[in-house]
Amino acid sequence: MSKRAYNFNAGPAALPLEVLERAQAQFVDFQGTGMSIMEMSHRGKVYEGVHNEAASRLLNLLGNPEGYKVLFLQGGASTQFAMLPMNLLTEGKTAGYVKTGSWANKAVKEAKLIGETFVAASSEEDKYMSIPDVSNLVLPENAAYLHITSNETIEGTQFGQYPDTGSVPLIADMSSDILCRPFDLTQFGMVYAGAQKNLGPSGVTVVIAREELLTNSPKHLPTIFRYDTHLDNNSLYNTPPSFSIYMVNEVLKWIEEQGSLEGIEKKNREKANLLYDAIDNSGGFFRGCADVASRSLMNVTFRLASEDLEKQFIKESEQEGFVGLKGHRSVGGLRASIYNAVPYESIKALVEFMEQFQKKNG
Ligand SMILES: *Cc1c(COP(=O)(O)O)cnc(C)c1O
Repeated sequence: MSKRAYNFNAGPAALPLEVLERAQAQFVDFQGTGMSIMEMSHRGKVYEGVHNEAASRLLNLLGNPEGYKVLFLQGGASTQFAMLPMNLLTEGKTAGYVKTGSWANKAVKEAKLIGETFVAASSEEDKYMSIPDVSNLVLPENAAYLHITSNETIEGTQFGQYPDTGSVPLIADMSSDILCRPFDLTQFGMVYAGAQKNLGPSGVTVVIAREELLTNSPKHLPTIFRYDTHLDNNSLYNTPPSFSIYMVNEVLKWIEEQGSLEGIEKKNREKANLLYDAIDNSGGFFRGCADVASRSLMNVTFRLASEDLEKQFIKESEQEGFVGLKGHRSVGGLRASIYNAVPYESIKALVEFMEQFQKKNG
């Protein structure tokens, strides 16, 4: 087999090799049907089995709390930025947003097009290099929900503690850190995530929500944008992205094999510690961007002394087989995305490359 790249892409991102190999083995003839999963009806028993298994596996990993439902939708997390306020930010209500960075700002921008919003907390003054204090939020009585971005993919920050919002539903965009560690789903009214970072390939967005938040879509909303449409039709109202959902199911199986969320968290902490320690122990040659207490387990952002040196770092890293280390164009610098499927060995190789680079240029 050809050598796998050291893949630090932010999204679409690395998938577990075991999952790719299993999918390859099942690619042409799925379960003896004489066709691939992509070629069969989404209304047939075989596909529906996979579809339902993916949903129940996901809830299982989250402890199967009562009253929660899974939807498989399309249009990415970006569509949820709009669909969420379309469905829940109704007349006379206001929606709270915690402004933590690029993705949170995109979410609030869409909500403003739909209805009234307020900023519940913000780290804008800190250039979004930290997660603001959310321990004592006071929310208005007519708050439809409070929205947070559990992990800011571009800035490299992540919530430690989630806010307690009482009876106001807490809603999280978990696109870049879902299932990176255990979390208590019952703290949330809804979480959603585009699959292409921690759950599978692009093409499907997972919504996990308390059922009562999915049943009250305003009457005027077009059918396809209504949560109740997808709930009532088991996410089969229209043709689902069947191959992506099949892949999500395989990734979820793989997570179970890693010791479920506890096992995954242990590995993720080992990986992140290895990389952050290398940055912190470089005597200032590499500098972490995010506030230490807000550092992400998934997206490690760091800088060198000059942009020229960063360009050289990226160029030389590419020659050595490293992919995706350039920071997002909006913030610059360097970023290593170390999602669930990125193996420890890739980070070890990166740390060795960083040491070599510092020796030559430090
Ligand atoms: C990648 C990402 C998105 C956008 O996802 P799409 O599927 O491209 O719409 C939204 N939020 C966060 C936190 C992300 O990391």
